[in-house]
Amino acid sequence: MPLPIDYHNHPQAHSVRPYTPELLQPWADAARAKGLKQVAFTDHDRYKDGVDFNQIDRLRDANPDVIFLAGIELDNDPETGTAGRAWVEKNWDRLDFVLGSAHYLAPETEMFDQVTRKDEFARRDIEADCAQYLAELGGMLDRGGIDCLAHLDLIKIHGVWQPKLGSLQPYFEPILQRIKREGLAIEISTAGWRKPVNEQYPHLDLIRLAHEIGIPFTLASDAHSHAQLAEHYDRLEPMLGELGIREVATYKRHQRTMLAL
Ligand SMILES: [Zn+2]
Ligand SMILES: [Zn+2]
Repeated sequence: MPLPIDYHNHPQAHSVRPYTPELLQPWADAARAKGLKQVAFTDHDRYKDGVDFNQIDRLRDANPDVIFLAGIELDNDPETGTAGRAWVEKNWDRLDFVLGSAHYLAPETEMFDQVTRKDEFARRDIEADCAQYLAELGGMLDRGGIDCLAHLDLIKIHGVWQPKLGSLQPYFEPILQRIKREGLAIEISTAGWRKPVNEQYPHLDLIRLAHEIGIPFTLASDAHSHAQLAEHYDRLEPMLGELGIREVATYKRHQRTMLAL
């Protein structure tokens, strides 16, 4: 049976494109074709003005065989983050699922995960960048209003970091312990397989540790087009089997239910 959920998707991609049947229906068609049972729409909070809960309801009515979650990817954008968080608070009861992520390393105002920044990162002190990244994630958790953390070790994206400590585990263990304490989930994302690092998020060492301490997982492609839905799930499925992950977290109105694979 195909993996049943894709919990990180961007119908609007990289601009405000208001939700309409024309925008959303291709996502339902692609979900059905790929055997997905549940799809979460998690556009970036900076494009919140395009999100329309009534249009998601309309899509649900037209496609009762697939469950659609109303969601958002809330990040630490220094310009839009505050308004994004206020929007999440205001719409909390209409949202099923909120992803939290850090795409910015203060005081920078440019996303660090732009692939065009690879050469720059090859020259940077990524140990220091990782410390800043973890502080940014910690800030997201301090502010709250999140169900699940997206691409937990995104800082590795450029594929140029040789961690001095040998493994990512010592860097990320404290935040994983905090995620566990706060009852949140993390996603296993195939998006890293289309980035220079060429590795799923997070690293296997982190998935193993998270699994060991009992953090639940969602599954995600971080699709920016319906064509990318469930991308590389054929590669992810045997990996989950080897890791002994036999259930995934699903959400409705922020309530988690585990679903057997
Ligand atoms: Zn992201
Ligand atoms: Zn995303």
